[in-house]
Amino acid sequence: MNAPALLTSTEENYLKAVFALAQPRIGTNALADRVQTKASSATDMIQRLAEKGLVEYERYRGVGLTPSGRVAAAAVIRRHRLWEVFLAEKLGFGWHEVHDLAEELEHVQSPELIRRLDAFLDTPSYDPHGDPIPRADGTWPTAAGVRLDQVPVGQSFAVAGAADRTDELLDYLHRVGMVPGTEWTLVEIVPFDGTRTVQNRSGRTLDLSALAARHVLVQPQETQTPNA
Ligand SMILES: [Zn+2]
Repeated sequence: MNAPALLTSTEENYLKAVFALAQPRIGTNALADRVQTKASSATDMIQRLAEKGLVEYERYRGVGLTPSGRVAAAAVIRRHRLWEVFLAEKLGFGWHEVHDLAEELEHVQSPELIRRLDAFLDTPSYDPHGDPIPRADGTWPTAAGVRLDQVPVGQSFAVAGAADRTDELLDYLHRVGMVPGTEWTLVEIVPFDGTRTVQNRSGRTLDLSALAARHVLVQPQETQTPNA
């Protein structure tokens, strides 16, 4: 994807924020809140980005991305999520720990570095939180998974992500080993309170509250014979 060259980290963060919030447009104040700055600074930055052809701004309609702004935002999000996969899979960071590091790494703008990182990771489609990673051509994979509380008893599944990014949830799931890529089978639902008992490939079982189950995204798998 051909992102406009040499954007500053701040410009990239604004593009990400507009991308995340604009549906299809966002007000200046909401944008300033998101990037934690004053409305006047946000207005200056919006003008700069508009001059570069990355955003459109209309006084009463707010800010939206232009087609090239959308490509540039996807490039930053792609770098961010690839770094998160690298940190989690290759360096052993917990999935609750990778986001802050990726916030910095995402601004390293070497296309060759990202091309090699992507190849090294076998071109993943989802980050450790289960969010889709934009492809090199700027297209997006479809969102991952169904909620664990919608899976029937007997169904095997792989953890795909979390529907909630609070540190408390991610830290909890990390501690009990329910991290992306791990494979489990739902063996029981307690009728009284909806607690889910799940079992992993090596026979370890785990009880998850109905609340936790509602926030785990999974990819159902075809039922397999044991030890296949
Ligand atoms: Zn992140």
